[in-house]
Amino acid sequence: MSFVKKHRDPQEWIAEAMGQFESSGIRKVFDLARKLKDPVNLSIGQPDFPVPAAVRKAAIDAIDRGQNSYTVTQGLPELREGILARAKATLPAECFADRSILMTSGTTGALVLALNCVLNPGDEVLGFDPWFVMYPNLVALDGARFIAVDTAPTFVPDPDRVRALITPRTKVMIINSPANPTGALWPEEVLRALAELCLEKGILLISDEIYSMFSYDGPFISPARFNPQTLVIDGFSKSHAMTGWRVGYAHGPTRLIEEMIKLQQFTFVCAPSMAQHGAIAALDVDMSAEVASYREQRDFIRRELAHDYDIGQPGGAFYLYARAPHGRNGTEFVAEAINRNLLIIPGKVFSHHDTHFRISYAATMRTLERGVEILKEMARG
Ligand code: PMP
Repeated sequence: MSFVKKHRDPQEWIAEAMGQFESSGIRKVFDLARKLKDPVNLSIGQPDFPVPAAVRKAAIDAIDRGQNSYTVTQGLPELREGILARAKATLPAECFADRSILMTSGTTGALVLALNCVLNPGDEVLGFDPWFVMYPNLVALDGARFIAVDTAPTFVPDPDRVRALITPRTKVMIINSPANPTGALWPEEVLRALAELCLEKGILLISDEIYSMFSYDGPFISPARFNPQTLVIDGFSKSHAMTGWRVGYAHGPTRLIEEMIKLQQFTFVCAPSMAQHGAIAALDVDMSAEVASYREQRDFIRRELAHDYDIGQPGGAFYLYARAPHGRNGTEFVAEAINRNLLIIPGKVFSHHDTHFRISYAATMRTLERGVEILKEMARG
């Protein structure tokens, strides 16, 4: 058989929206990591503790029992009910006057479904600089605009600055506290002001709470406490080290969840079934020892670096966002760190500014000690 000899450059098949994506700068560091011998890796945004044994067992049992087919689109009822019951213990009753839940393929699945279900081309999404890498890209995919409110140097936003950026096209605000990449835990009064601003202006508030368990300097506060229409997005990736299992969820206004379920039917179909069975077990696992040890790791690295680096207030998650010393540019600083075998992420990946770098302290104490040593040497110049 012979083909008609005609060729099209495959590049021409690629959608225009993809042109706005830059392959994740974090991936570039991971690619470098593979080339280095025994690097000191403080770049990885996932826990280094194991998936709890009860969770692994529940998933294996589910597989062995033959529970390997699709679940209902919105996820296993026992899991959904368990999550909502826990939410009811912390959120006010008004939140539940109109609230439904769906299980998604990771927290990412919930973000993808939510943004696709609400954004029209030209809509604006208010976010914060520095941002979590997915937000601007997912917004661009919908032909919408990501408007980033600068939060430097404190990395806690000023609600008046946010208000000034609202236009008739502003449809969504995304809050992520505790935050990736800064580790900032936003104070209650800021969360309240932003949540109330969204209510006043009819803006959908999406709260990405994936780091909620890792709140060291005070209890976790969801902005949903101040805005009953908040769409809460969370998952098991960070809390139970289940990043590869792909289980997340969204709960919020029923009409919105219905639409997300409809889109899930035609995209992800459901969250992985055995992972959902594992997640049911995860609901009853006490993770306080893991959180306590991450707090100690945070305390250690903060204590060691505070003298040489401006590290802000890392109150949660497992990141520290430090300014490159001596007015240096963040990208160059990270290139030098990589030359010295230390992997960290340049702030430019998450920000319009090229001044900072992100450290993940989700690593062994030995790795943290080695990392601190290199960073101290670098600060001395
Ligand atoms: N939101 C934030 C702020 C994150 O840091 C991450 C993971 N790095 C996600 C969402 C995505 O998490 P998941 O693995 O559950 O999709």
